[in-house]
Amino acid sequence: NLSERLDKSFKLLKGQGKITEINVAETLKDIRRALLDADVNFKIAKKFTDDVKEKALGQEVLTAVKPGQLMVKIVKDELAMLMGGTFADIQLESKPAVILMSGLQGSGKTTFTGKLGNMLKTKKGKNPLLVAGDVYRPAAIDQLKVLGEQIGIPVYTEEGNMDPVKIAKAAIKLAKEKGHDVVIVDTAGRLAVDEQMMNEISAIKKAIDPDEILFVVDSMTGQDAVNTAKEFNDRLDFDGVVLTKLDGDTRGGAALSIRSVVEKPIKFVGTGEKVDALDVFHPDRMADRILGMGDIVSLVEKAQEQFDEEEARKLQDKLAKNTFNFNDFLKQINQIKKMGNLKDVVGMIPGMGKAMKGMEIEDDAFKHIEAIIFSMTAEERENPSVINGGRRKRIANGSGTNIQEVNRLLKQFTETRKMMKMVSQGKNVQRMMAGMQ
Ligand code: GDP
Ligand code: MG
Repeated sequence: NLSERLDKSFKLLKGQGKITEINVAETLKDIRRALLDADVNFKIAKKFTDDVKEKALGQEVLTAVKPGQLMVKIVKDELAMLMGGTFADIQLESKPAVILMSGLQGSGKTTFTGKLGNMLKTKKGKNPLLVAGDVYRPAAIDQLKVLGEQIGIPVYTEEGNMDPVKIAKAAIKLAKEKGHDVVIVDTAGRLAVDEQMMNEISAIKKAIDPDEILFVVDSMTGQDAVNTAKEFNDRLDFDGVVLTKLDGDTRGGAALSIRSVVEKPIKFVGTGEKVDALDVFHPDRMADRILGMGDIVSLVEKAQEQFDEEEARKLQDKLAKNTFNFNDFLKQINQIKKMGNLKDVVGMIPGMGKAMKGMEIEDDAFKHIEAIIFSMTAEERENPSVINGGRRKRIANGSGTNIQEVNRLLKQFTETRKMMKMVSQGKNVQRMMAGMQ
């Protein structure tokens, strides 16, 4: 799958000091192949890798950030750009604002109609009216009625009326009278694109002149989703896309391609069958999902913000000379503390989130450690090897901890020193983790 492939190609870059034409070429080839595998259109994949290459080659590599990590960030930013950059909202200014659903049968229109109504009601204080416009299947009308009851939003239906245009117009008239500020019109879909469906939805569009036409598509349908999106857009010129069923095991290809092929933003994603399983679409989060690498990107960003490059260089020097001491250890703790909540930081390391599940990490995990270091003399901090049994006892008493804790910290310090040395020599993270256990 895409994230595994990207993972592999990033590994190639790990441990190399600079991003150059040569070390990036192989990675870009892998990325392109991975995108093609995930149903991304060839032209888009090519443009994507060209853009990434241009960005990567110009980049200066911070000491605190490895080129591989930097590539992850560049690829992620570029993916997010490809999917629209920022979040695109829906038009709600008109009174009432009219939203029209379109899409194939089974894509999730009716479910989304309920979800959107619920979101607008609970999060934006709106007073929506839902309209049952799928007149061919009585079950579809019932489905929307049940949803409406569940979320406490009225549903407009007309028994026996088979003309969705008339129903939609009547519903909007009623909404004006009753003061509903949003009208969401659900419509009938078919199993494949056909003339009758297109004619019907076009007629509804013409009659009610919606503020927002949303195209709903099942993200599990891959390249088909892109083709369907194109056909609907050619006929309807819709305003935004709703990607449903992203709770499943879907590939990233659909989200990636749809935006480029139809040039319309993805606005919402459905993440389950329940009525609250709806998110507004965030391109950067989708990029994370596609990359499947935990939130390594935010970690890199935080590191870039917080780590003073000069400081990092000095540290590396010390590590190389094996003069890393407790004063440096304290500085490290401060750096980590600056990066935020320890739980968050750990959660951002790929694989660590899962590995640490269920383990307690105290927010003040460093408190005792700091107390112990503060109780050391300057000599002890600089040269920890002088800390013998007697000194350990004194430090334990002074810091209000006990001998076991002091011993643990000393052991931890030695391990850290080893670990940091490995990092500074570019050994890989797996070995580093193994060393921690
Ligand atoms: P419509 O024919 O376009 O109106 O599609 P429906 O709203 O009836 O949805 C078809 C099926 O997909 C139903 O079983 C829904 O429960 C399911 N469904 C819709 N959206 C989602 C979603 O985001 N995640 C999951 N897992 N199922 C969904
Ligand atoms: Mg339906």
